[in-house]
Amino acid sequence: SDVLLEINNLKKHFPLRKGFLHTVNGSVRAVDGISLQIQTGETIGVVGESGCGKSTMGRSILRLIEPTHGVVKFEGKNILALNKAQMRTMRREMQIVFQDPYASLNPRYTIFQTLSEPLEVHQLYDPATRRQRVYSILQRVGLDPSYASRYPHEFSGGQRQRIGIARALILNPKLIILDEPVAALDVSVQSQVINLLEDLQKEFNLTYMFIAHDLSVVKHISNRVLVMYLGRMAELASSDKLFSQPVHPYTRALLSAVPIPNPRARRVRTILQGDLPSPAHPPSGCVFHTRCPLAQDVCRHDVPEWREVAEDHFAACHFAEPSSEVFQQA
Ligand code: SF4
Ligand code: MG
Repeated sequence: SDVLLEINNLKKHFPLRKGFLHTVNGSVRAVDGISLQIQTGETIGVVGESGCGKSTMGRSILRLIEPTHGVVKFEGKNILALNKAQMRTMRREMQIVFQDPYASLNPRYTIFQTLSEPLEVHQLYDPATRRQRVYSILQRVGLDPSYASRYPHEFSGGQRQRIGIARALILNPKLIILDEPVAALDVSVQSQVINLLEDLQKEFNLTYMFIAHDLSVVKHISNRVLVMYLGRMAELASSDKLFSQPVHPYTRALLSAVPIPNPRARRVRTILQGDLPSPAHPPSGCVFHTRCPLAQDVCRHDVPEWREVAEDHFAACHFAEPSSEVFQQA
């Protein structure tokens, strides 16, 4: 199948702020060398603890923040080389849905204004067609078109996220970056929104990057899952393989943190020790070594290479090997 998005060595470093009495040198390496190809129609899950750079990566891909380094190609075109006007046109193809729909909706805009604004900005359609498009997209995300005259505060969290999704869809994009789209919602509403996203994907042939801190959220919706740690890639595999045969100690630790529905299930337990180190001072060698139960001397000195440990299964760990033993996952 075709590659829709190609990311090469993407980095986003934020300079440390200068103090009043002294200058702090260096930078926060929020995203530090991500390379990834995403196929048309695919859902790639991106997981990691908060602070691992997932959201920064998502925003850097869309240039909502400017990456420090790297290449992002959309349908073969390097979008980091586009000027403002070209980028505005490109944004029609690439949209984002944020975690907190309330914060991302203008409280003084009716839903109709919120949804028709992108069409006006891009000078698409005449007013009557715009109106039709707003109504039909509302219907498509499960909201009554009569809601168009209401304001964001009149809706529940789940409904607001449906409006956020409608706004992302209105320009008919190819790629949608979903940045923790259900994290702020009640568990019962989460699955409804995920089902909706799956239906919309099929109907509109959408490609998703689904960012989450919770592995269980991305498990079923993702074709592949990327695990990130301190702005770097730890492991990448099909969702099935990542959950059944994770090779990176960090992935194993994250999986151990998933609640166990059956407490008698036998499983290898790896508990994450300590806090996430600061991305301003990432550990030497393997960035995970300060928390890794398997760390050896070599891990403190040598950065592990990104390797294909099994077919289409990649990891950055000196000791990552596919195991014949299937990881017992909840
Ligand atoms: Fe752990 Fe070493 Fe592998 Fe890093 S390279 S994950 S420290 S075993
Ligand atoms: Mg985030």
